[in-house]
Amino acid sequence: MGEVIPHIIGGAPQRSGAVQPVFNPATGEEIAQVTMGGATEVDAAVRGAAEAGAAWGDTPPAKRARVMFALREICERRKDEIARTISREHGKTHADALGEVARALEVIEYACGAPEFLKGDFSRNVGPDIDSASERQPLGVVAGITPFNFPSMVPLWMIPMALVCGNSFILKPSERDPSSANLIADLLDEAGLPKGVFNVVHGGKDAVDAILDHPGIMAVSFVGSTPIADYVYRRGTAAGKRVQALGGAKNHMVIMPDADLDQAADALLGAGFGSAGERCMAVSVAVPVGEDTADRLVEKLAPQVAALKIGPSTDPDAEMGPVITRAAQDRIEGLISKGEAEGAKVVVDGRGFRLQGYEGGFWVGGTLLDHVGTEMTVYCEEIFGPVLSIVRASSYADAVDMINAHAYGNGTAIFTRDGDAARDFSKRIQVGMVGVNVPIPVPVGYHSFGGWKQSIFGAHGIYGPEAVHFYTRLKTITSRWPTGIRAGAQFTFPSLED
Ligand code: NAD
Repeated sequence: MGEVIPHIIGGAPQRSGAVQPVFNPATGEEIAQVTMGGATEVDAAVRGAAEAGAAWGDTPPAKRARVMFALREICERRKDEIARTISREHGKTHADALGEVARALEVIEYACGAPEFLKGDFSRNVGPDIDSASERQPLGVVAGITPFNFPSMVPLWMIPMALVCGNSFILKPSERDPSSANLIADLLDEAGLPKGVFNVVHGGKDAVDAILDHPGIMAVSFVGSTPIADYVYRRGTAAGKRVQALGGAKNHMVIMPDADLDQAADALLGAGFGSAGERCMAVSVAVPVGEDTADRLVEKLAPQVAALKIGPSTDPDAEMGPVITRAAQDRIEGLISKGEAEGAKVVVDGRGFRLQGYEGGFWVGGTLLDHVGTEMTVYCEEIFGPVLSIVRASSYADAVDMINAHAYGNGTAIFTRDGDAARDFSKRIQVGMVGVNVPIPVPVGYHSFGGWKQSIFGAHGIYGPEAVHFYTRLKTITSRWPTGIRAGAQFTFPSLED
């Protein structure tokens, strides 16, 4: 059974509440248990965070940034340990987990620039002897609720920016792979963050509801599936909080007739099947334009999908690992069957995949579906597994209309040699993150991440400049120092003439 993973509240481990098993998805074995918190643990974390956060919020930004510089060096030094912690509970390959750490490092690096991005504005003489200064102040205690698929990177999309802006933070990570959150607490501790400024409360719906309802939490960042993002946004904003809630996705990649098809097929393999398709920026729909493009693409893809190297994270040759739970495996296989029943052609069938020596694991083989229609369940729903659907478009205009009509708008890509088409696509497509011959256009740490439509609820993207606005509030101070001139009471609205 293994250890019980504790909450980290006020800098100390705390075990309370019921426990839930944590599995190794490659073997199906229970490897640990996680403590499931609720209102009591959230309240304790908020109190501690508020207390420790007062001094942290007053710490000069340059000193807060130094903690981020230290965190960056510690993450670099301990990246193998972070990656192993991710893979043990998530199942992704070690190389993929290292990639996750690398993208998290970018956000930490951006956070190191806090003295610059928190610098205020000042205007002298906005009126006679009147000066005006604008500054961004921390919100106080903020919280993050995160999904299973990036147990390290997604929390680190939020934590460095929230902390460096002067807030204290409560993380409610996924209960499926909770250990990475406690490791982040350890890394922050080593970096010199004062105890209590960062807290981890494990759990599920009870912990989430307690966060959404707690009056001491000023803002909530959520990343996860769309129905829960919608719920979190509604309940959190109803409680008067600032909320950003990033949801699910169905990312299309358009392959124009002039595209380099070998390059496009490589891109589809990596973006469709890397991390077993469990990425919010995974390409799950390929849209070849024209029957000839589609036939040639399927011919190239089918043998490569069938030959994907599937294995546990400890296998250095593995290209993808298992999916997260038995329930996810059943759901994905059920959706493939539904797609087949609704008329899709199963070109490569990943159902029933078993790996010798890992018979108890949660495996789904790479699956390629052709002739998928836009009315089918496999097209409308996010599958979040190693399943690539081909939806054939008769023209470029059809492809654009199809993507724009989809409920999700997280990421998309176009593969083409035609600059005119690429430029038109970038402008007209109703999606937040667009790649031109780039299959997974995740913005770097100094831009911001965010989809459109049902892929996001709330006005702010995550990390980068958008995070500065999300995790701070604007204050503008207008001042006049007595000059000895007495103008008398003034009853008209103040203007430049006064
Ligand atoms: P999920 O929505 O099931 O869980 C996310 C978080 O919500 C977890 O912390 C979980 O404990 C909590 N939660 C689950 N059910 C809840 C409920 N009923 N009430 C309150 N809280 C609840 O998501 P997941 O399966 O962990 O992650 C996969 C999903 O996340 C996919 O849909 C994926 O597209 C999405 N995702 C989106 C992004 C993005 O940036 N847009 C990034 C990563 C993942």
